Amino acid sequence: MRRISILGATGSIGQSTIDLIKRRPDDFEVVALTGGCNAKQLARDAIALRAQIAVVDSAECYAELRDLLAGTGISCGCGAQAIADAARMPADWIMSAIVGSAGLPPGMAALEQGTTLALANKESLVTAGPLLMDAARRYGARILPVDSEHSAVFQALVGEPMDAVERVIITASGGAFRDWPMEKLQTATVAQASAHPNWDMGQRITIDSASMFNKALELIETREFFGISPKAIEVIVHPESLIHALVGFRDGALMAHVGPPDMRHAIGYALNWPDRSHLPVDRLDLAAIGQFTFRAPDDARWPALRLAREVMATRGKAGAVFNAAKEAALDAFIAGQVGFMDMATAVDMTLAKMSAQSDLQNAPISLEDVMETDRLSRRYAIEALTTLG
Ligand code: NAD
Ligand code: MG
Repeated sequence: MRRISILGATGSIGQSTIDLIKRRPDDFEVVALTGGCNAKQLARDAIALRAQIAVVDSAECYAELRDLLAGTGISCGCGAQAIADAARMPADWIMSAIVGSAGLPPGMAALEQGTTLALANKESLVTAGPLLMDAARRYGARILPVDSEHSAVFQALVGEPMDAVERVIITASGGAFRDWPMEKLQTATVAQASAHPNWDMGQRITIDSASMFNKALELIETREFFGISPKAIEVIVHPESLIHALVGFRDGALMAHVGPPDMRHAIGYALNWPDRSHLPVDRLDLAAIGQFTFRAPDDARWPALRLAREVMATRGKAGAVFNAAKEAALDAFIAGQVGFMDMATAVDMTLAKMSAQSDLQNAPISLEDVMETDRLSRRYAIEALTTLG
C-alpha cells in the first residue's frame, strides 16, 4: 500500500488523480486531501477514499466540512497553515495540484519529508525553482513533473545523457484565440477565453492558455526543472495537442511524445513511475488523425512569450514577479476590470517597476523572500491594472 496525499484535490488535476486512485483501491492508502472551498466535493472524496484528514483553505467552508465529516473518524482542518501541516503528514507520494503561488508553501513542506512530489503546480517552479530543486536534493525528495509537456520531456529523456540534449521543444495548442484577428483580442470575454479547443482544465489555466501565459510559465518551468539553457528551449504551436513535447539530441534525432490530450496520462505516469501501468486514456488512431500540423508562435499575438524570455534572462526574483503580476492580472480580467491584452501590459509594467526598485536579478534566499516579492508584485500589478481598466 502506498500512502498518498493530494493537495488541490477538488480541482481538475486533483479530480483526475482521484479518478485513477479510485480504480485501484487496494494499492493506495489516502492520507490527506486538501481543497479551496468546495467542502461537499472534498468530504465526498475523503469519505469514499477513507482519507485520514481533509482540509479546506477558506474559513467560510470549514463548518460545512466539519458537519459533513462528523462521525466518520476523518479529521478536518482549515487555512493555509493546516494545508502545509497536511503536506507534512507522512506519505509516499504527494500530488501538488493547488493553482497559483498558494501551492508553493505546501509543496515545499511536502519535500521536507523527503517524499515523492508529483508537481502539477508549475507556479512553484516559476516563483522558486532553485529553492525547490535545492530542497528536493537536501531532503532526498524526488520531484516528478505532471505538466503534460514536462512529463513528455521527462519520458523522452529516459536512458539519455543530459549532455546529449541539444534542444527541447514544447508544444502549444494556441488556445481559444489562435485564429482570431489580432484587433479582436482586446475585447475577448471571460467566457470566450475559458473555452479550450482541446483540453478540459481549470478555468485559470484555460484562460492562461488563450493568452499563452501558461506556455510562458512552462518555458520557465522547463528551464528550472531540467536545467536547460533558455536558448535551447523552443515553443511550437501545434493545434492538435497530440505531440506534447520533443527532445532534440546532438545527433539530430528528435524524440516526440505523442498521446491523447488527457491529463490522466501524465498524472498516471508520475503515479506509476518508474513503471508503466495500464491507464484509462484513449488510444490514438493515427490514420483517422491523418496529420500533425505546426506553426511558429507569434510574439505580437502572445506577448507573454517575450516576457518569459526576459524573465529567464534575468532569473533571480523575476519569476516570482512575473507569476504574481500574472495572477493579479488574471483576477482583474476574470472580474471584468480589464481587457484581455491588458494582462500582458500589466505584467510588463510590473516587471519594469520591480526592476527599477529592487534587486530583481538576485535569487530569493527563502520562501518568505519569495512570498514578500509575490505580495509587492501583486500590489504594483493592481496599481498598473487600475490605470489600464
Ligand atoms: P483548479 O482551479 O481546477 O483546481 C485548483 C485546486 O486548488 C482546487 O482544489 C482549489 O480548491 C485549490 N485552491 C485554489 N486556491 C487555493 C488556495 N489559495 N489555497 C489552497 N487551495 C487552493 O486548477 P487545475 O486546473 O487543477 O490546476 C492545478 C495546477 O495544475 C495549476 O498549477 C495548473 O497550472 C497545473 N496544471 C493543470 C493542468 C490541467 O489540465 N488542469 C495541466 C497542467 C498543469
Ligand atoms: Mg502544460
